[in-house]
Amino acid sequence: MDFKNKLIRKSALELAKLIATGELSAEEVTSAFLERIEEAEPRLHAFINLFPDFAFEEVSRMEARFQKDGENTPFAGVPVAVKDDLSTKELLTTCGSKMLENFVPVYDATVVKKVKDAGVVLLGKTNMDEFAAGSSTETSYFGPTMNPWDTSRVPGGSSGGSAAAVASYEVPWAIGSDTGGSIRQPASFCGIVGMKPTYGLVSRYGLTAFASSLDQVGPMARNVKDCAAMLGVIAGHDSLDGTSIQVEIPGYSGMLGGNVKGVKVGVVKELAGESIEAGVLDLFNRSLDLLEGLGACVEEVSLPSLKYALSVYSIIASAEASSNLARYDGVRYGFRTDEPVEDVWEMYAKTRAEGFGMEVKRRIMLGTYVLSAGHYDQYYSKAQMIRTLIAEDFSSAWEKCDLLVSPTSPTTAFQLGEKLVDPLKMYMADMCTIPVNLAGIPAISIPCGLSDGLPVGFQIMGPPLGELKVLDVAYAMEGAIGFEEKTAEKVLPS
Ligand code: GLN
Repeated sequence: MDFKNKLIRKSALELAKLIATGELSAEEVTSAFLERIEEAEPRLHAFINLFPDFAFEEVSRMEARFQKDGENTPFAGVPVAVKDDLSTKELLTTCGSKMLENFVPVYDATVVKKVKDAGVVLLGKTNMDEFAAGSSTETSYFGPTMNPWDTSRVPGGSSGGSAAAVASYEVPWAIGSDTGGSIRQPASFCGIVGMKPTYGLVSRYGLTAFASSLDQVGPMARNVKDCAAMLGVIAGHDSLDGTSIQVEIPGYSGMLGGNVKGVKVGVVKELAGESIEAGVLDLFNRSLDLLEGLGACVEEVSLPSLKYALSVYSIIASAEASSNLARYDGVRYGFRTDEPVEDVWEMYAKTRAEGFGMEVKRRIMLGTYVLSAGHYDQYYSKAQMIRTLIAEDFSSAWEKCDLLVSPTSPTTAFQLGEKLVDPLKMYMADMCTIPVNLAGIPAISIPCGLSDGLPVGFQIMGPPLGELKVLDVAYAMEGAIGFEEKTAEKVLPS
């Protein structure tokens, strides 16, 4: 195996160590991953924009800082990819939309600032469904991303670019955002680890708002330890985000012991029934046996309100999206129509008609409808009430269980184009992940095996701020499953 192929297999934590001890230089690492990207991108299209020059400049800046103050740059020289809905100073941030095709922000999102402070080097911005509305990364204005396991299939979405980049060893880890499953579902489709933290644990400052009461930024990696390490980098209170929580951030990755003995695990009945594809259900059940083997007590629990989760989500997410996306009007941000117009109203209308894609328009129309005077009580208020019931179902479950589990998605990665024509089928892809966002709790997806050659995700949900417990059980399961060791060759040329 040549030098590059050996290097790109290393985890983020391994790379950090090898760079810190001088066994590898940050330039070597950056070059190796950029070379891998060049080789894999024509097949995958995981990135919207790459910034190789910026990356090398960053390496020099970071090296200077590391010489002076190594302790505060624990991940000096480790590359990362960031979803294109996170603001990056002086670097294009498109949200996968024509509306922002040429948009260059003047500031970094808090998470971007935090990764830079830790010495992490940004290589590029990853592809996504337009404004994060989608489950397949097919609604990107820049064209779809392909699944590294089978390029005729989608990588999931909306953080499909980040998931594909990590799965195909283009970067050791990445950052995504999750409003209804957009980190966990693509993690599941691409056979990697992805986590949505507790609402408020990670700052949303500089994350382009989709549905503000549901959006959360989170880590994606090939193993649980790297995922925990990235969470440690990006989590923490931020006075620039009014919903940010003030809590002590534990050193997640250093605290993983893989202790499952006596942990009470509830299998959510509503998320593990007949709507789950047979191959997925089979692997899910085998993973439950494994959990029991590791010493967990597994029992079924029912959260009856979850049957409304998808409907409640589509009302609340669309309502918030319609309001958040109102700012793209041809005046304040990005694209403006070239068509002749009579007045400013026509300019708004034409700009929005040309600048937004189909799915985004569908959400805006649904959102304005459920918020309109005649329908607000009938839809929006009612959805908020049911959201409370869902959160209460989870609260009661924590009285009996330490953690809850389900498959991450009811299916494995589907074919490109398969669900684009039927939005309702597309929305079903998130049936297991959406309740977590509605309740604001943390959840992780880890790969638990292959069904017909495609990865299957196992979801572990925890109570608010239960990240450490979630990560610890995920870590134990990962050790027992050995997914990456068994499958790396399938997505990597040797
Ligand atoms: N797929 C879901 C949607 O279409 C969730 C998207 C997300 O989490 N950003 O809304």
